[in-house]
Amino acid sequence: MSPVKLDVLQQNEQNLVLEVEGISIEMINAIRRIILTEIPVMAIDEVIILKNDSPLYDEIIAHRLGMLPLKTDLDVYKLPRECECSGYGCPMCQVSLTCEITNATNSPLIIYSGDLKSNDPKIIPVDPNIPIVKIDKNNKVIIEAYAVLGRAKDHAKWQAVSNVFFRYYPIVEFNEKDLKNEEENEEIAKMCPFKLFELDSKKNLKLKEDYWKVCTLCKSCEKISEGKIKVLHKKDAYIFSIESDGVLPFKTIIKKTFEIFTEKIDEFATKLEELKIET
Ligand SMILES: [Zn+2]
Repeated sequence: MSPVKLDVLQQNEQNLVLEVEGISIEMINAIRRIILTEIPVMAIDEVIILKNDSPLYDEIIAHRLGMLPLKTDLDVYKLPRECECSGYGCPMCQVSLTCEITNATNSPLIIYSGDLKSNDPKIIPVDPNIPIVKIDKNNKVIIEAYAVLGRAKDHAKWQAVSNVFFRYYPIVEFNEKDLKNEEENEEIAKMCPFKLFELDSKKNLKLKEDYWKVCTLCKSCEKISEGKIKVLHKKDAYIFSIESDGVLPFKTIIKKTFEIFTEKIDEFATKLEELKIET
């Protein structure tokens, strides 16, 4: 197998897109699955509702609170089952978020995620403008919530990313000599859902240089050109995308992924040694 090649295609607060080459599909899928289900993040897991005058049931409010993405600090907090308190709840594994609001105005009032007061200023909702519940005038809501670290394989609220996916590195090939029919060329350019083809002044079909960043291998150009255009993919090369909701920086997500990956391999190797295979 060729050496591993990595390149950043896009990077901003929400998205990280990488070009990866030289690893098998099983390996890249294992990485995807670890990012999706194994990285621990903070989420509200216990809610005590002391007063609720709102029209929503306590359970609905608790569910809405559970789904709030919270900024996570993996250096300080431990998973409850790995904590010295054995999951009973202590400052090493738990953060409390409280909210006490009375609507003293004359119109309905929306309580937002930003109204939750955390006892750790680092563990707060990623976005302060997520509506939780609306209350009428003179109504009151008192909530006490506890956030803990957890993994998405136990519940989706602990998902470290919004989405993570990969696709094959696309290759679109054609010979310009085969595509001389102006009408057909126009049709091909029109049919591509991502508009990756351009027509020059002589109505010759041209591929955009960075088509491979967007092409999803839908093959609509291959079908409409009756095989004159070939849509293939590079072996062991992928476009790998991670979409974040901001609970963890991408750097931490990637570092943690490989920590978990190595732990799993080590565990497997240790178990294998214990088997004492003779022959
Ligand atoms: Zn603890």
